Formats: sequence, structure tokens, C-alpha cells
Amino acid sequence: MANPEISVIIPSYNEEGNVHVLYEKLSSILTNSKVSNYEILYVNDGSKDDSLLKIKELTEKDASVKYIHFSRNFGHQNALRAGLDHAKGDAVISLDADLQHPPELIPTLIEHWKAGYKVVYTKRKDTNDLSFFKRLSSRLFYKLVNYLSETKLEEGTADFRLLDRSVVEALKNFKENNLFYRGIIPGLGFKQIGVEYIPNERFSGSTKYTFSKMVRFALTGITSSSAKPLYFSIYLGAFLALCSFLYGLYAIYISIFTNMAVTGWTSLIASILFIGGIQLIMLGIVGIYLGKLFSESKNRPHYIIEEKN
Ligand code: UDP
Ligand code: MG
Repeated sequence: MANPEISVIIPSYNEEGNVHVLYEKLSSILTNSKVSNYEILYVNDGSKDDSLLKIKELTEKDASVKYIHFSRNFGHQNALRAGLDHAKGDAVISLDADLQHPPELIPTLIEHWKAGYKVVYTKRKDTNDLSFFKRLSSRLFYKLVNYLSETKLEEGTADFRLLDRSVVEALKNFKENNLFYRGIIPGLGFKQIGVEYIPNERFSGSTKYTFSKMVRFALTGITSSSAKPLYFSIYLGAFLALCSFLYGLYAIYISIFTNMAVTGWTSLIASILFIGGIQLIMLGIVGIYLGKLFSESKNRPHYIIEEKN
């Protein structure tokens, strides 16, 4: 069979309630848009619910549905990578399984692609429907990543985008662990364009990004695109050295010109605790990069496929 014109890849983790609804929407939209043929590729990221069963039901009645099933949960970005590795389309569209990324936008993405754009990314328009915490954490995330790294992320861009085959092939050469697609794609070059959309409510289930996953994602985003945090220890070290020098001058002054030299226990303890805390933070930063080096040097697979069709 000839390669499909469009591949749609869907990272799915415990999305049993969304698999069928999303399929219905996607297949009707893709059939109605002027696409010659397409494939819908579910990447089942080690779901513990019946997602795999639901996906297999689809493959039985529709040959354009493909799936990859991981042996365990490898995370959203690795699921995306597996999708990009296996998609055969001339253009590859990635979107979330929970219908928050409106499939209705797909014809627009395809139009821009046919007009010659190689990357059509999307920008989420924040509405008040989104929870306050989600909006706040997302703003903070983009601010922090932009402040700390070399590539500039546009606020509200997520993993809902169309990539031309040439871009997919370029991305496959990025072999590092925990690839941070959002940070890397803007810097790839190619003709890029952004499209705005209003996110839907999650259709079924709850968010798979727990607070700790979100913090880890932010740390990955920052440390994979920049070494700036490493310089913090130098700046902070210099600042603290200056402070202690000034304090030293003060201490000398006190002991020579006054008779209250033994006081100062509180400030001593406080400064020891403070400097100790800073040292731990800085060690942590160095540790993150060291850990990255360690895991890269092992060169392990990014995901393990248990079965696929
Ligand atoms: N996801 C995944 N693996 C994970 C976590 C999430 O494949 O370990 C998928 C999830 O099924 C969804 C997408 O990534 O399709 C985005 O996750 P979610 O909707 O939970 O994130 P949110 O929209 O709340 O940021
Ligand atoms: Mg979601």
C-alpha cells in the first residue's frame, strides 16, 4: 500500500473513555477533508485501563487504525517519539487523546501545510474554563523556560501540531533522552506558522499530568535546552562571598571598637543554615545535569514496544 498522506499520532495513557469518541471525530473529519488516505496511530503508553482493548476494537473494523503498545508507561514525550518513528505519512499531526485539542482544527493545519508550511503549530487561547491552577502553572512554565533557556517558546504552544515529513526526519536525529519537542521544534528552522485554538474540556477521565509530573516536565524543559542554571552557583557564590566579606568587616569592627563580641549566635546559626540550604540547591542543579549525562551515556531505548499492528 502507498504511504498515507496524513498520519495522526495520539499518545494515550489511561484514556479508555476517549479512544472511540476521538476516532469517530477524526475519521469523519479526515474523510471530509481532501485527504487521499490517512492513518490514525494510537500510542498506548502502558495504560492500566482498557485503552488497548478499545483500540483493538477499532483496528478490527478500520484498517487505517494502527497502534503501538508500550510495555509500561514511558511518558508523553516518549509516546510522541514512538509515534514520529512509526508514522508513515507525508505529514504527521500529533494531538492529545482527551479531545482538548479540537480535531476540528485539522483541516486548517492541512491547508497551511498544502500552502507550503513545514511546521504548523498551535497556540492555546486561554479561556476562563481552564482551571486557575492550570493557567497559572502554565504561565509560570513558559516564563521560566524562556527566561532560563536559549530557544524562545511561545506561550500556550503544546504538542498539537502538524509536521512535514522533512521535519519528522530531522527530528529523528535528536537521540537524547526526555526530548522536549516544544523547545526543539521552534529552533529547527523550516517555514513555520502558528494557529490559535480554544481548548475543549477534557472529554473523559482526569489529567495525567500530576503535580510531580509537571515539575519534572518543567525541569526537563529547562535543563534540556540550556545550561544557564549551572551559572547560578557562580553568581550566587560570588554574591554570598561579598556578603560574608562585608559581614566580616562588621565583625572586626564590633570586636575592636565595642565590647559586645560574644553576641551574634543567632546570626551565626541563621547564616550557616542559609548557606547550607543554598549549597544543597546548587548541588541539586549540578546533580540534575550529572544524572542526565549518566542516563544518556547508558544509551538505553526510549521506549519498549510490547505489541503493535
Ligand atoms: N500522556 C501519555 N503519557 C503520560 C501522560 C500523558 O501518553 O505519561 C498523554 C495523555 O493520554 C494525553 C496527553 O498525553 O493524550 C496529554 O495529557 P493530559 O491531557 O493528561 O495533560 P493536560 O492536558 O492535563 O496537560
Ligand atoms: Mg489534556
